[in-house]
Amino acid sequence: GAQSVMDTLGVINLEGFGLEKDHPALGCAGALLYYVSENLRAKPENLSGINEYRSAAALLVDPATLRNLEVFRSTRGTRQGSLLEAINHTVSASGARLLEQWLIAPERNLAELQRRQNSVGALIEAPLASSELQDLLKTIRDVTRILGRMQNRLRNPREVGGIKDTLNQLPAILETLKQFDGTDLDSVAEKLHSIPHLAELLNRALREELPNNLTDGGYIAEGYDETLDGMLSLTSGNKIWLSDLESQERERTGIKNLKIKYNGAFGYFIEITKSNLSNVPDDYIRKQTMVNCERYVTEGLKQKEKEIFHAEENSKRREEELFAGLVEAVLEETKALRETASALAEIDVFCGWAELARLWDYCKPELSEDDTLDIVQGRHPVVEQMLKKAGSGLAGSHAFVPNDVNLSSQDSQIHLLTGPNMAGKSTFIRQIALITLLAQVGSFVPASEARIGLVDRIFSRVGASDDLARGNSTFMVEMNETANILNNATEKSLIILDEIGRGTSTYDGLSIAWSVVEHLHANPVAGPKTLFATHYQELTQLDKHLPRLHNFSVAVKEWNDDIVFVRQVVEGAADRSYGIQVARLAGLPAPVITRAKEILERLESEDASVTVSSPTPVAKPRKKIKVKTDDAQFDLFGG
Ligand code: ADP
Repeated sequence: GAQSVMDTLGVINLEGFGLEKDHPALGCAGALLYYVSENLRAKPENLSGINEYRSAAALLVDPATLRNLEVFRSTRGTRQGSLLEAINHTVSASGARLLEQWLIAPERNLAELQRRQNSVGALIEAPLASSELQDLLKTIRDVTRILGRMQNRLRNPREVGGIKDTLNQLPAILETLKQFDGTDLDSVAEKLHSIPHLAELLNRALREELPNNLTDGGYIAEGYDETLDGMLSLTSGNKIWLSDLESQERERTGIKNLKIKYNGAFGYFIEITKSNLSNVPDDYIRKQTMVNCERYVTEGLKQKEKEIFHAEENSKRREEELFAGLVEAVLEETKALRETASALAEIDVFCGWAELARLWDYCKPELSEDDTLDIVQGRHPVVEQMLKKAGSGLAGSHAFVPNDVNLSSQDSQIHLLTGPNMAGKSTFIRQIALITLLAQVGSFVPASEARIGLVDRIFSRVGASDDLARGNSTFMVEMNETANILNNATEKSLIILDEIGRGTSTYDGLSIAWSVVEHLHANPVAGPKTLFATHYQELTQLDKHLPRLHNFSVAVKEWNDDIVFVRQVVEGAADRSYGIQVARLAGLPAPVITRAKEILERLESEDASVTVSSPTPVAKPRKKIKVKTDDAQFDLFGG
């Protein structure tokens, strides 16, 4: 591992990078490099250093959480419906890539986040200049990728043209950025290098239209190199010679439709139609017989063909030489070009975020190092947009209902959220995680106000996702993820738990959910900020002995026997679960609903629910609940 890293970087030890020879990650790095050099059949030339990725520097969001929060993909596996899609207003490939990188490794560094926020803020205040920048950025090319390929000897004239096009945009970009003098965008503008001598060279050397293949030739501009110009005029001289030959031969033979043609297999030849064969002179050498014609060459034509090929070969070789010089000139500026490319990507992300904030009325969250999370009128960035799009014809009937939250690890640490299915519990708790995530990449957030103490990790366990393809049962996955959370959360973390324990029997599930909540509250002073959505009504009793736990619910209105979802999060536990009403909304047949109500009434009157009075769930051994009915007896929970 270490050896192949050192070979690639061309160093004799890794101390300059702060790494010991036996750093455990070097094995992986070595394996990656092996793979890359096998594929390139050469040492990768574009790698210039190796850094240890220190988890303390970034906000950790584990893969399960990224999946549950649908950051990069929706649960259906599409880009549509993901956070990334909802917030991506970048216009260049490198901007889009940077946005993804930032989402993969959100920040914990307050100063860096504020720099990003302030840059976005400046752009929001100057919408005209901001959209001007976006227009300019649309024409830049992916310079980082191009450089990588050039360094690895994958060379293509059109890509060098990409460097030229990008450099040509820089003066205008820098000019527009002048309007932001004195803002945080200065730090980005400083990293834009227009490298005038390189721009001038490329503009002079390259043609307007460029081929993808070096071997095609025809990419070096006229007037750039005398030798090449000389060779090219020879080629065009030869073309004239050929057309002269055609008219001479027509005159000599009297064949009016005699033609000189070219194809890849035979080169140049004279074509005579069958009706004129009697006039073919003796010095024609037959080469090929076709249905309607014969093809011939002459000694003179063969000689000329050699000259033409030779001249073309020479001019192509000359072009390749000149091209190599251009590549070298570009690579000499690698450092400046890379810095420029990454600054352009930043500007793209910032302009995109400014547009996002303007379009959807996002606010600038106030970031701090303390332990509170206070969001006023927060919205779910993805659901909000989906509702707007779905209901655009319906006069606001589907508007997203904003909600507040105020968590802190030292007093309002755990919010237990109850309410019927479909009330909006998952949406609410996810929106808090997403707002926190957005704040920690530097974006504005969908809320009217937000005060966000930076968190070290975001954990999320939402819904019961099947992972059967990987050989895990739903419940096993759920418990794996819960274990990961309990083992790794700190009081600086944010935890979103939805329906923990649903994957097993009621009492098992309730007991696990119960002890998970107790564990999260175990530290007497502070604990991870937690949002816990559950349909276990019994858990709402926990606030009696866990001082930092508070009950909330998503309100519903009852209308006769129907329920209406109002999407409002209110303090206090939900009084009941309304499962039967929701089941009716879902279309269960009326007799089933009526029967369910009968059973529910019976159960409630016989007090078959678990009651709670002490810090432990009452485990009245009620394995079997017998329900008397008019006609028969049946087991409710099985034996
Ligand atoms: P639960 O987790 O309580 O079963 P969900 O969070 O899945 O409910 O929400 C159900 C549906 O309700 C969502 O798909 C969404 O369309 C809608 N919804 C949720 N929250 C809101 C809200 N605040 N405003 C408007 N519609 C909402």
